[in-house]
This record gives sequence, C-alpha cells and structure tokens, in this order.
Amino acid sequence: MIISMRLHASREEIDNVCRRIQEFGYKVHTIEGEERVVIGAVGVGDVTLCVESLQAMPGVENAVRISAPYKFVSKEFRPGRSQIRVNSVEFGGAEFVVIAGPCSVESERQLLETAEAVAQGGARMLRGGAFKPRTSPYEFQGLALEGLKLLRKAKAATGLDIITEVMSESDVELVAEYADVLQIGARNMQNFSLLKSLGRCGRPVLLKRGMSSTIKELLMSAEYIVAHENPNVILCERGIRTFETVTRNTCDLAAVAVLNELTHLPVVVDPSHATGKSSLVPALCRAAVAIGADGFMVEVHPCPEKAFSDGAQSLSFPQFQRMMRELQPYLELWKQDRLARNAAAV
Ligand code: PEP
Ligand code: MN
Repeated sequence: MIISMRLHASREEIDNVCRRIQEFGYKVHTIEGEERVVIGAVGVGDVTLCVESLQAMPGVENAVRISAPYKFVSKEFRPGRSQIRVNSVEFGGAEFVVIAGPCSVESERQLLETAEAVAQGGARMLRGGAFKPRTSPYEFQGLALEGLKLLRKAKAATGLDIITEVMSESDVELVAEYADVLQIGARNMQNFSLLKSLGRCGRPVLLKRGMSSTIKELLMSAEYIVAHENPNVILCERGIRTFETVTRNTCDLAAVAVLNELTHLPVVVDPSHATGKSSLVPALCRAAVAIGADGFMVEVHPCPEKAFSDGAQSLSFPQFQRMMRELQPYLELWKQDRLARNAAAV
C-alpha cells in the first residue's frame, strides 16, 4: 500500500497513520518530502480493511493498494502456466482444447448424434447443460438427472469427457459424479457459497466470466475456488454486456491477453455466447486461437432451428466440421508458438 498524506499534514497525523498501519501487521517505510509525506506499507494482512481505515483518517489524502488482491491465481504466485489435466486432455499444455456440444441436453438421440459428430470433427470434450440457467421460468430448464445420465452415455459411446453446468450448491456432489469438469455459468460467477462448495468437489472447474464482471472480479472468483483447496480452475471469456446490440454480448478478446499476463490459470473462449450468432462463431474461434487462448467451447446442434435453447448461436454438424478443417493451419501455428514459449520459459 502507498499512503500519501495531505500537504503539511501534522506530525501527530503522520504518527497516527504509521501506528494504525503497524496495528494491521504491516511494516512502515516513510518518505519525507519538503511538503508532503508518503508512507509505504508492506507485509501480509487485510489490505482492503486497512486501506478503508486509512482513508478515513485525518491527514490522509489517499491510500491505495499496489499488489493484486488475488494471490494464488496470480502470476507472482506461480510464474508460467498451470496445466490442468482432465483424463487424457490437458488445459494449459501443448494442446489447444476444443469443447463442443449442445447448449442443452434434450434427448438421447440429440446428444449421442452430437457427441459423435463433434468427436469426429476433433473436439476433445463434450459440453451440454442438464441444469439450465434461463432468464424466463417458462423456458426449458434442462433434463436435470436424466440429462446427466445421457451425458454419461455419450461419454461411454465416444470417449469424450464431459463438461456440464452446476447451478446450485446442493447439486455439486451429484453433478461431480457425472461430469469430468464442472461449469460455473456467467450468472453464478459471484455466487460465493457455490464457489466455496467447489473446493472439495474433486473436479476441475470451468469458471465463466459474469456478463457484467471485470477481469479482476473474475480472478477474485477463481481465487475463492483455489483458496478453498481446488487449484484446478479454467477461466472462460464468454462475452460481456456493452451498449452493442448486434451481437448478444461483446467478446472481450483482450481479456484473454490480459489474463495471460495476470494469471497462470488456463483461459478458454466461448464464441457462441459471446456473439449469439452461428455465422460469427468461426471467425471468433480463429481469433481465440490467434490470441493465445488454451481452447474454446462452442455450441453444436443436429438441427439448430429446433434447439430447445440457443439455436441461433449453435453450429450445425457440417458447419462445425468445416470450421474445424479450416482451423487446422491456425492450430498448427498455435502449437508451434506454444512449444516455443514453453521452451523459452524453461
Ligand atoms: C452455457 O454455457 O450454456 C451458458 C448458459 O453459458 P453462460 O453462463 O456463459 O451464459
Ligand atoms: Mn447456451
């Protein structure tokens, strides 16, 4: 923390501030100028509370924190990149991970056909919601346990690992039984009791960025999960709300580059929810590869016009397969770049 005192703050005010900082357990370093005193505070403690307390003290002009409020997920804690293994798939390693599948699990046929098609196209994991967070209570809410059972069937048929959303603390254990990765949706990014309950679920978590959340808030939510002893968190940029109306959300691609600077956790992009339009998905997938994401997650449906949810943003099988073919040269460049970076980091 850096605390700048007001011009000509009294000696008593300066001493009181130093004392207060020490009460919080920090070491004090003062820089005494002709007119102004600046105080540095270093150490470990409740920075937010300390800053707020100092800001309320007489003679203080401003108190700001210098270090990031998140610790375990930061690059300072662990330089480089974390690898998160999900059976034969590794996020943050030398493979770009493609996750694909329907928005919602609708029926055995729909899911199995989709699983086969995306596996053939090169997807490494199958997505599909059994518990759906819908804006309206009258919309399809998901097949719940029945959906989880179908996901298990699809895994047995294709070998694809499963990622599916858990919406409530009380379902974590159940969903963890069926899923290889638990998805936390945008609407639940700051559901702190849900985040805490993921600590010991035994599964990696894909944490989606809230639609009105800052990058820092996303990292703080990841910190919740890691601080509760689950280090396996994958971050997902899925678009944020802006004034733009042509796309469903605004895909914050720069967030991927920023996250790669700030955290060691893997980052994936969800171009389906970010754009809301299937025609835009392939371009955004290319961009996700180029900007150095660790993977992407897209929605695919056997018949998008009949989907129970998110049909407009779902790729058909031929569209997915074509996109994957056209991505190959980009994926090869990605791999060369990743290997070169990993070698340089050693
Ligand atoms: C989803 O992945 O189907 C979903 C509901 O996404 P989000 O939480 O990003 O809206
Ligand atoms: Mn969806």
